[in-house]
Amino acid sequence: MLKRLVLSLCLFALLSGFALAQNIADDTSNAPRPVKLVPLPPPGPVYIRCGALFDSKSDQLQQNVVIAVEHDRIKQVGKLSPPAGAQVIDLSNLTCLPGMVESHTHVFLQGDRKPGQYDAQLLKQSVAYRAIEATTAAHAALDWGFTTIRDLETEGAGYADVDIRNAINNRLIWGPRMQVVGRAMDVTGAYPLQPAYAWDVTVPIGVQTVDGVEGARKAVREQLSHGTDWVKVYADRGGKIHDNIFDTIPTFTLDELRAIVDEAHRERHRVAAHATGMMGVHDAVEAGVDTLEHGNYIAPEDMKTMVAKGIWFVPTPYVAEYDAQWRAERAGTQPQETPGLKIEEATFRRALQAGVKIAFGTDVGAFEWDMSPARQLVTMVKWGMTPAQALRTVTIRGAELMEMQNDIGTIEPGKYADIIAVQGNPLADISLMQKISFVMKGGVVFKK
Ligand SMILES: [Zn+2]
Repeated sequence: MLKRLVLSLCLFALLSGFALAQNIADDTSNAPRPVKLVPLPPPGPVYIRCGALFDSKSDQLQQNVVIAVEHDRIKQVGKLSPPAGAQVIDLSNLTCLPGMVESHTHVFLQGDRKPGQYDAQLLKQSVAYRAIEATTAAHAALDWGFTTIRDLETEGAGYADVDIRNAINNRLIWGPRMQVVGRAMDVTGAYPLQPAYAWDVTVPIGVQTVDGVEGARKAVREQLSHGTDWVKVYADRGGKIHDNIFDTIPTFTLDELRAIVDEAHRERHRVAAHATGMMGVHDAVEAGVDTLEHGNYIAPEDMKTMVAKGIWFVPTPYVAEYDAQWRAERAGTQPQETPGLKIEEATFRRALQAGVKIAFGTDVGAFEWDMSPARQLVTMVKWGMTPAQALRTVTIRGAELMEMQNDIGTIEPGKYADIIAVQGNPLADISLMQKISFVMKGGVVFKK
């Protein structure tokens, strides 16, 4: 009897609690409503008249093409005649392309190469302030024509990249489509600021410190629980050049790396590995990461493994040129082609030859967001890509890396209306991609 009474009371408490929660959820009349900066796309159809089109499928430009957009998607592409009275965006003096895809950004960094820049951001700025800066960086990315980015860690700002991504998806702020990694991982003692300060001063660290196989699995579970898309590991650090090889110090053991990759894959997520030199690259490739970042030197055998396993290569050549440039400026000399840059170029050319899958990423944030990351396309063409090849790395290749190739990366019916336009012919002069004059994301015009 008593048992039954207790049971009924419990059930009552449960039901009334549920009813209360339901009431709170239903009462949205006074709920705060944030200002949304980004409008919904018009229902359309909206007709975009392009003087020329690089659709990222063909190597050639098509002349005088019209793109019909309905809501956020492309409906039709071809020699269409918009009906009388239809809404037309006239870009007949421009070349249209798919919105660009940046596979390696840091919206939470506003430059980190010059002395003190990195430390100042972690020591002197709150995460709240850095999130405001990240908002402006996301805005800048879209302004440069990047309608999708993969942001590869917040450098001490926790999971605030998840918030930036969500705020963009909720139309609160302007920004590209984003995939994010949150905090990233490195081993004890390997990542700033820790090794740089007195041992008895506690300083923040730019990543989550992770040690041991069990620690690695737990860290993956913890990070993914916060809504991140990717897991990022720092597979190496330091480095020196010998015999035309850039060699680095591996951070994680192979067992730790394998545990991270296995745990992430088990949870249907993928792993990006920062690996700049021989041993770091070797271990990352052996462990089966999904994308290899930087890869300044990749041994021929590891390149074969990358092709066999389908591991993406995201080289970041511009940032090294940027370093050389500002060092020369400071010294009042001309920028030198350093031995490190020569090794990077040779690696890039070998990867191109070997058929490694290459996507465009620059590490922007390491250099300031007031410069277009598209400047790296110039380097990639200088290092042996055709302009069409380079444009594919920054469109359809990036889309494939992010497994978004059904939604973005080319201009064709069914895909998101992520469309940019530029004056002139970027196949004749790739540097034009730094001057984007029109940006549409998901059918909404951002820049015209
Ligand atoms: Zn990076």
